[in-house]
Amino acid sequence: PPGRKVLIVYAHQEPKSLNGSLKKVAVEELSKQGCIVTVSDLYAMQFEPRATRNDIVGCLHNSEEFNYGMETWEAYKRGGLSDDLIAEQKKVQEADLLVFQFPLYWFSMPAIMKGWMDRVLVQGFAHEFPNCYDSGLLKNKLALFSFTTGASKEMYAKGSISGDIRYLLWPMQHGIMHFCGVKVLAPHICFAPEYVSEEKRKEMLNAWAQRLKSLWKEEPINCSPEWYFK
Ligand code: FAD
Ligand code: ZN
Repeated sequence: PPGRKVLIVYAHQEPKSLNGSLKKVAVEELSKQGCIVTVSDLYAMQFEPRATRNDIVGCLHNSEEFNYGMETWEAYKRGGLSDDLIAEQKKVQEADLLVFQFPLYWFSMPAIMKGWMDRVLVQGFAHEFPNCYDSGLLKNKLALFSFTTGASKEMYAKGSISGDIRYLLWPMQHGIMHFCGVKVLAPHICFAPEYVSEEKRKEMLNAWAQRLKSLWKEEPINCSPEWYFK
């Protein structure tokens, strides 16, 4: 709907990749709906994935013994996080929906995107005990993990060699997004795009565009252990 804000956090090196095309389709379709779409193109931004001392501007809270979680929490409260983090947090704060678009790397997201999670979702901003899970600080937002795989759908079936694809979603959807209070929409998975025909890939892109048309009517998944492991 017009005015809804979407942040696409995108991790692929190559614009001509299927991930690049999926991102493009999402920008086009959501913009067409009147949504305000922002993209964080992590490789193009040369986004820093490492959680280090450089994320804190000025003096440390405890300069005797460095504690990244503590220091970023304190820095957040005094407005002392590095500019790149403040910019990403602003995009997150404004967004109604976060879309993560990436190729599956080692049963997870690429390091550059994991680094985005590590650095952006700072305590005090995204969660602050006991404000976690349903009372996480980013409640009233939605997240959607959209990714591609090398392996086929059959290999990611329950009981197959790679196990149910939902097992891999537990850390990302539940451990990160739900922890921060974000509601999770069903993932969007394009299996093995490198090993299917050009025509099949076009169908994959079409299916994504179709899904986005009715996205705002979707109910979040019931993000509890049962959804993943039952
Ligand atoms: P691409 O190779 O870019 O896309 C496939 C084809 O689609 C290309 O030929 C491209 O030209 C074409 N294409 C692009 N746009 C269009 C369009 N508009 N219309 C038609 N065709 C188009 N896989 C797993 O399953 N599990 C893992 O744990 C895993 N770990 C990995 C770890 C690493 C370090 C790496 C490098 C890969 C790993 N993979 C794994 C494989 C990886 O997930 C896949 O290679 C990736 O998801 C494929 O997506 P892509 O966008 O890079 O594909
Ligand atoms: Zn959950």
